[in-house]
Amino acid sequence: MKKVIHCLMLLCILLLLNHPSLCWGFYAHQKINYYAVFLLPPEMVLLYKPNILFLSEHAVDPDKRRYAVPNEGPRHYIDIDHYGIYPYNSLPRKWADAVAKFGEDSLKRYGIVPWHIQTMLYRLTDAFKTKNFSSIMKTSAEIGHYIGDAHVPLHACSNHNGQLTNQTGIHGFWESRVPELLAEKEFDFFIGKAVYIQNPGDFIWKRVLESAKAADTVLRCEKELSKQFPDDRKFAFEERNGKTIRQYSAAFTIAYNKKLDGMIERRMRQSVFAIASFWYTAWVNAGQPNLKELAQQKFSEADLKEFEQLNAQWASATKMIGREEQ
Ligand SMILES: [Zn+2]
Repeated sequence: MKKVIHCLMLLCILLLLNHPSLCWGFYAHQKINYYAVFLLPPEMVLLYKPNILFLSEHAVDPDKRRYAVPNEGPRHYIDIDHYGIYPYNSLPRKWADAVAKFGEDSLKRYGIVPWHIQTMLYRLTDAFKTKNFSSIMKTSAEIGHYIGDAHVPLHACSNHNGQLTNQTGIHGFWESRVPELLAEKEFDFFIGKAVYIQNPGDFIWKRVLESAKAADTVLRCEKELSKQFPDDRKFAFEERNGKTIRQYSAAFTIAYNKKLDGMIERRMRQSVFAIASFWYTAWVNAGQPNLKELAQQKFSEADLKEFEQLNAQWASATKMIGREEQ
């Protein structure tokens, strides 16, 4: 019996992973949350700055949770092209209207990221109202993840890993390989200040539509560039954690980033700005509570146990399927 349960669990995990939405890669998500802290007003910085490493490290918790929680997957993407052509007016932007038209199961099948971000915004606002340190931190870290995902073009497209156009692998290439190689050296994360968002729903839908529109460019540029790069120049073997892995070569990565004309840097910067602005908006909507007394607080034993459990689940799931990282 135990064996059967084990096999079923493995099967569930494999099914979940079938939709990649691997989400900016761990590296980029962590950077994005980290830089968002610097856009906040001083009244918030006094809580967020001492916890900046938490916010950065836990930016990837929603991805880790995907292995264990079946409902988690759809929160990271929306296959918006399922709803016709740009700007996909057949899809109501309000959750209740969308549910009435398509049903919840169907919406979840094609992804719910724009709505889930709004749910997280309410949760964060409540956390501020009740001055709940742990919830403010956890929800801030996690809303950052989903907002980041909404900015990734292939998170708003059913051809999310180029699987329909013989470009498998492009998902991780765009959101992991390029930032990992270039963000530190070449991307600029000096970005003004967070702003109050009057209409968070409109704001996030706008970003999702931009993502959907950019998906074509993401795919087309890779296809065109591949014609100039034979496979032995497009890919390279590199050492990673003691293993030799095949990945997109540095030359191809640099050429792709150039061809995209700054798109990846721009989407990362917009993610940083949006995240800080959502954090700020939640705080303002909660009546701008004084956060000074929370700055000294620590996570409870129960919180620490929860983080530990998530890491343990994630580590054993990735081990089972032979993957080391997202
Ligand atoms: Zn994600």
